[in-house]
Amino acid sequence: MEEKKLDTVIIGSGPGGYVAAIRAAQLGQRVTIIEKSKIGGTCLHTGCIPSKAIIGLSKKWADFKKSEHIFGKLSTSNEMDMMEFQKDKNKTIFKLQNGIQHLLHKHEIEVVEGTAAFCSNDALIVSNIHGHTNKYSFQHCIIATGSEPRELPSFPWGDRILSSTGALALQSLPEEIAILGGGYIGIELGCAFANLGVKVTIIEVQEDILLMVDPKIRHILKQQLNKKKINLLTGVKAIGYQEENEKIRIQLQRETEFFSVQADFLVVSAGRIPCTSSLGIDKTNIEVDRNGMIQVNSSLQTSVPTIFAIGDVIKGPALAHKASYEGKLAAEVISGNNYVIDYRAIPQVIFSDPEIALTGETAPTEHLLESVFPLGANGRALTLNQSEGLVKIFSTKDTGHVKGGAVIGPNASEVITEITIAIEAGWTVADLALTIHPHPTISEAIIETAELATGMPIHVTSPM
Ligand SMILES: Cc1cc2nc3c(=O)[nH]c(=O)nc-3n(C[C@H](O)[C@H](O)[C@H](O)COP(=O)(O)OP(=O)(O)OC[C@H]3O[C@@H](n4cnc5c(N)ncnc54)[C@H](O)[C@@H]3O)c2cc1C
Repeated sequence: MEEKKLDTVIIGSGPGGYVAAIRAAQLGQRVTIIEKSKIGGTCLHTGCIPSKAIIGLSKKWADFKKSEHIFGKLSTSNEMDMMEFQKDKNKTIFKLQNGIQHLLHKHEIEVVEGTAAFCSNDALIVSNIHGHTNKYSFQHCIIATGSEPRELPSFPWGDRILSSTGALALQSLPEEIAILGGGYIGIELGCAFANLGVKVTIIEVQEDILLMVDPKIRHILKQQLNKKKINLLTGVKAIGYQEENEKIRIQLQRETEFFSVQADFLVVSAGRIPCTSSLGIDKTNIEVDRNGMIQVNSSLQTSVPTIFAIGDVIKGPALAHKASYEGKLAAEVISGNNYVIDYRAIPQVIFSDPEIALTGETAPTEHLLESVFPLGANGRALTLNQSEGLVKIFSTKDTGHVKGGAVIGPNASEVITEITIAIEAGWTVADLALTIHPHPTISEAIIETAELATGMPIHVTSPM
């Protein structure tokens, strides 16, 4: 087999891989991407973008419905046209995919279609759908192969048992849907379908959903899920299922009690697994943990120093922006820059309704002051009729430096960036409080929360 010599090769073109490729090219490297499917990865095709498309539309629908007493009936139909939605969603994906392809082309990045697997510490075999196999040796490699939905042995994928990918590709709106897993993907999908009028049940084996989120915020979210009539079953294990009359009946157990729920589809959202099992890792000296996660050092090098790993195949939250950040860092290190990763402020957003966003340190400690401002005292939130929420900032008790925070409420996904920047820039709560914010905006709640920390709030009289 002929062997082609490559400089920097990147396996996978998701938000980790394509961003690493562009940065590496900007830094003067000759870059090749190997992609077995479509350019853009999970995020573009089955993750962030399609899920936010349905979440955005479902929110508009729910808002219209809430305002029917003012506008009158806006639609003669009582449900969203899923076929039209799929067409619009695919157009957006296509546009974004074209954009990435254009950028790769402009940066003279070679794209090889095929599935890559290592055959040694410095070479890969790539097989494509036409049955061709090529060998490539490389100076540096970045593994960015991402993750895939975890299939549960007792709930195998099928016509009625879907992954998040299947749920986002539905061609018609179901009457009722059950979601197994109360993590962020399950909650986001649950809110979207409930906003569209679907009867939703969420089944979570843990004692609560979203355990990484603070209890006060979880409480506000659960009140809203309740208003949407989402049937939230926590501390409940799914133990089996039966398909009957184009429906699925899921058998459940809570301690010694047995019961069941019925739905058109069961969406299993029980975590994701890294795509490393068929990468030929055993032909290299790369170390993986027992879950298949690749071990890396603080410069994202695997135990083979010329091979790097980024994104969902390494530890940490599975998020597109984390993958992109790591991709840029790996490209810098390959170019000879001595960078190390800094995870102090990774924003995490749950696009539920209302949105939840976290950044930096989010748990109280004896050194941190916790300031909380309710959105019920924010004019913009009230005009939007979405004042159930809060902003929370953690700052050091001695110096007032901003260390973390959380937001639940409208535009939480945007507002959280202010706290992230404050952490990165080494700002204090006084710096935040002195920054003039436009009125009326949700972001004004940031000033108010910072002022609470300085002891001189304007629009509340005492801490919540
Ligand atoms: C429903 C859902 C919603 C999400 N929403 C958000 C969100 O709102 N915000 C957010 O930040 N994150 C979100 N995520 C997570 C986000 O999609 C991932 O964290 C992100 O895509 C990871 O990027 P990556 O580059 O590591 O891998 P991926 O995006 O998974 O890309 C990996 C690429 O590698 C290719 N590949 C795999 N193996 C090989 C091989 N052997 N050879 C060649 N190519 C290969 C794959 O085809 C794929 O294109 C969501 C995920 C899901 C499922």
